[in-house]
Parts: sequence; C-alpha cells; structure tokens
Amino acid sequence: MHAACHYTVMARHPASHFFQITLHVHHPHPQGQLLWLPNWIVGSYMIRDFARHIVSLSARTAQGLLLDVNKVGKNQWKIEPHVGDIRVEYEVYAWDLSVRGAHLDQFHGYFNGPCLFLAVAGQEQMPVTLDIQCPDGVAGWKVATGLTPRATLASGFGEYEAPDYASLLDGPVEMGTFDELEFAADAVPHRMVLTGRQRADKTRLAKDLGKICETCIRFWHDPAPFAGYLFQVMVTGNGYGGLEHGNSTSLMCSRDDLPLSTEPERPSDKYRTFLGLCSHEYFHAWLVKRIKPAVLMQPDLERENYTPLLWVFEGFTSYYDDLILARSGVISSQDYLDLLGQQISRYLKTPGRHVQSVTESSFDAWTKYYKPDENTPNSVVSYYIKGSLVALCIDLTLRQDSNNTLRLDDVMRLLWHEHGKPGIGVEPDTVQRLVERLSGRVWSSEWTDWLHGTAELPLKPLLEKQGISLNLRADSGANGQVYASLGVRGQASEGGFLLQNVWRGGAADAAGLSAGDLIIAVDGLKVSSQLEKVIASYPVGGNLCIHAFRRDELLPFEVHLQAAPFENCALALPSDPGLRQRAEQWILDQ
Ligand code: ZN
Repeated sequence: MHAACHYTVMARHPASHFFQITLHVHHPHPQGQLLWLPNWIVGSYMIRDFARHIVSLSARTAQGLLLDVNKVGKNQWKIEPHVGDIRVEYEVYAWDLSVRGAHLDQFHGYFNGPCLFLAVAGQEQMPVTLDIQCPDGVAGWKVATGLTPRATLASGFGEYEAPDYASLLDGPVEMGTFDELEFAADAVPHRMVLTGRQRADKTRLAKDLGKICETCIRFWHDPAPFAGYLFQVMVTGNGYGGLEHGNSTSLMCSRDDLPLSTEPERPSDKYRTFLGLCSHEYFHAWLVKRIKPAVLMQPDLERENYTPLLWVFEGFTSYYDDLILARSGVISSQDYLDLLGQQISRYLKTPGRHVQSVTESSFDAWTKYYKPDENTPNSVVSYYIKGSLVALCIDLTLRQDSNNTLRLDDVMRLLWHEHGKPGIGVEPDTVQRLVERLSGRVWSSEWTDWLHGTAELPLKPLLEKQGISLNLRADSGANGQVYASLGVRGQASEGGFLLQNVWRGGAADAAGLSAGDLIIAVDGLKVSSQLEKVIASYPVGGNLCIHAFRRDELLPFEVHLQAAPFENCALALPSDPGLRQRAEQWILDQ
C-alpha cells in the first residue's frame, strides 16, 4: 500500500511529558495544506479540544526551508502553498492519565490517536503509516497496540500501517515495561497488558477472561470479526474507566480490583466489577464499533455528532456485560440478580428519570451526561442505566409473549447481520422495526412510554412473571419500615456535612437547603458524617431545625421531615427447584 502520509512518534525526554511528532505529507494541496486535529474521541461524547496540548508546530520543505503556517481555527493550521513533500513537526503535551488522553513519563507512554495525529485535510481516506520510536533514555520498553504492524522489532517498536486516518485513530498505543498475559477465545488470540504496579494472578485473569470472551463471541452466532484482541490495562490506586476500539480496549482499574492468588472462586465485588468492565468494552467490539448509529458511520470529529440512540449502544451493552458474566459461569445467577438489583436501585435514586427521556439523554450526552453538576440527578437520566433496564424490559416481554422462543439476543443477531456485518448504519427507528418484525406486533406504546417518555418501567411485573421476586426498602432499614429522610446526598467535610445533591421536592429542598450548604447542627446538636442516620431517628412528618453555612453565612432552616422513598432493590430466585430453573432460563440462556 502506498501511504499518503507518514507519522513518526518519539520522545527525547519522556519525563517532561512531550511527544515529538513528525508528519510527512507527500502530496500537499496546491492551494495550501490544511491540517486539523479531532476535538473529541469516538466513544466518549464530549468536546475535549485535544489541540490545546499541541505546541511548537512548524513546517518545512524536503530541502529544509521553513514554510509559513497560519492558525485558522482552534484545531486547524494552514501551510502556505508548496509543490512537493512537506515535513510538519510539533510537540504534544501528554500528562492526562485517562483512557481518552495521552500520558508520558520515564515509566511508560500511552496515547490515543486523536491527541497526537494531525489529519491531512482531503487525504483522510488514504492509507497512512506510523513509526513508533523508543523514547530516549529508557530500557526494556515494549509496545502494545491493536494497530497492524508493518515492520516492527520483537519489542513492538517500528512501523505500523492503517488503511485510513479513522483506523489510525482507533488503535491507542501503550509503551513501557508492562506485564502481560495471553489466552485464546474461540481460537482467536487475546492479549492483556498491565501497566502500573500490581500483583495480579495472571492465570486466574486468563481463565476468567477466556470464558467471558468465548461466551461473547459465541453470542453472535458468527466468528469474531477480528484476528486478535488486546486489553490495555492501566493499574492505579483508584482508577476506573474504559474506552472501546475495534480490536482493542483501553481500561483503567484500581490495583485491588485485580485478583491475587488468594482470590476466592466466587469473585470479590471489586474483581467482579473489573470483569464487568472487560465484558462491557469487549461487547462494544460488535455493538458500537461495528453495529453503529448511522450518524457515526463517518463521524465529524470537529464538532458534536448527535444521536438519540446511545440507550441502545451503551444501554444494551450494559445489559449484556453482566449477563455474559453469568452465562460464562464466572458469576452465579443470584450474583447476577444482585448486580441487576443495584442497577435498578441506581435508576430509582435518579429523580431525573421523571424529567428526561432516555432518547433525550442520548441526544444531549455532550452537554448533560458528560458534564454533570449538582443538578444532574434531578434533570438527567443515565442512558447506560435506563438503557440497560429498557433492554431487560424488551427481553422479558419478547420471552414472555413468545413462550421463550424469542429473545433480545435474536434482535442483536439481526442487528449484526443486517447492520454490523455489511456496515450499514442503525437509524433511530431500526431497533423498533426489528423487534416488531420478529414479534409480529406493533411496539409503539412501549417505545412511547419507555424510550420517548418518562413513564416508570414495568420492572416488577415483568420480573415477577419470570419468577424473580423484587423487594424494595428505604435506604436506612429493613423491608417495609418507614424512615425520615432529608432527600440529600453529601459527605462529611470541614466539621459538618457538605450537601452535594438535594433531591428536588425532598424535605431539604422544600426547606430551602441547597447543594453546597454545609450542615453543622441538627436540632441544636453538632452533626457528623452520620447525618442520614441521625435524621432517620426522628419521626416522619415532624419538624426539625437545621443549621447550615451557605458560603460564610450561618442560616437556620425549618425542615418538615418526609418518608424516605423505597428505592433499594433486592432480587431473588425462587427456592423451588423447578420454578428456579424456569427463572434462570433467561439469565443462563439454557
Ligand atoms: Zn460503553
């Protein structure tokens, strides 16, 4: 393949956090070449303005003569007209330790293409090559990336290629002295690299991930759409996050999320969370990396790209991530129901579900879900959480209406065969159309209520019909017991309790308390971190005087206590073995 442009990445002094990039453009535009950098990264729906980290950009001819460069936009540069090769040199500051950024020091390097690689306007569809050079002054470093090697050393440093600019961006690169493990799933080689200090039991990781990936590949009733897969894991004290790519994923986890050799057979909550994250990003290799919203088939990386469909791409992925843990045998059916109960509790603790529909939440992800503030719980519903519960409702309805011959799994496989595999984008009405085609009936009332509206989801009747019991209780106590509540979320701070969120319509809101207020006394007595426990000891319907600082002003508030809502959900399988088997059918897909 003949590359239209060639990038070289190096670092002369990695401890200073600067990558040096050289970009060779072979056929610059005769009227002057425009270069641009993405303002966001695919999979993370927020304008991030990566170009702010570019410094010292210059352009020269093949003979080394300087060319004029004009900044023409926050992320755009234009080089004066020149016939013949151009060499562009620039530096990128890399000190953002996240799965969306770039990070470099003397211990490791990591970057996402959108942070480092300027696009050559007009040549985005042309093949590119990339030379990854080992940073100066480091020893024993290796490279791990999903990009296609062209001429590399055993360490992985050397030349890579991509068929176009978008593919170059989809292969983040990790370099350093990482630990690694390998396993096969459905005969496809998989690799996990672990950067950062950790003592993980790699045999255990390979065993559990092998089962999860194999279950996921087989879910689609088709061979894996990649020749190999890479998990890049950054291990820190308290990190969490992931970003999906076509044949790799970048993850951040906390050190104690990883299993030690003493990990019990039944995974700890933290390890289960890590496996759930791996399962989530891996499922995305199909759903969102290949089955995509039509508007993201050719995304405009310079501005927001709106879609009402993140409830499918993130919500359905969130539904299947934990379900696949259960189907692969890594967790039990009851452990799965515990996770689902937690998800339902999070949904019920979001007053914003009465205000925003999940399609609106998807559309506004750029400015709402991704930019949370103290008002977010009152105004926003998560398309991850509600989307996963809508998936549950569609799945159980399909099963119950068809005597278990139809499932959401069948909808997913249709999406794969009609959209993912042939590369045809998903339109806003595609999923409804597929569900209607499979079930032979109209689903407009479900779509109106569950997706375009804010009606409560029929979780309890659908789960109970499946044989699963659903019980709700208040935050502070046992089943059925009623407690007083302020309707706030906060934490101990500066000798008081700092309010982070105040639920709209709750007791604190009605009394005039606000997020940011520091409660220092309840009923004339100093409060501690146990505020909710103190409040729960007073009778519902009673009045209480609360003292709080707003900025530096001490204010009294007369609070009329309300009953704490029942929003902690517990799900359980039936104890009768026959009923239990039927109830488990949906979880284990037997
Ligand atoms: Zn996701």
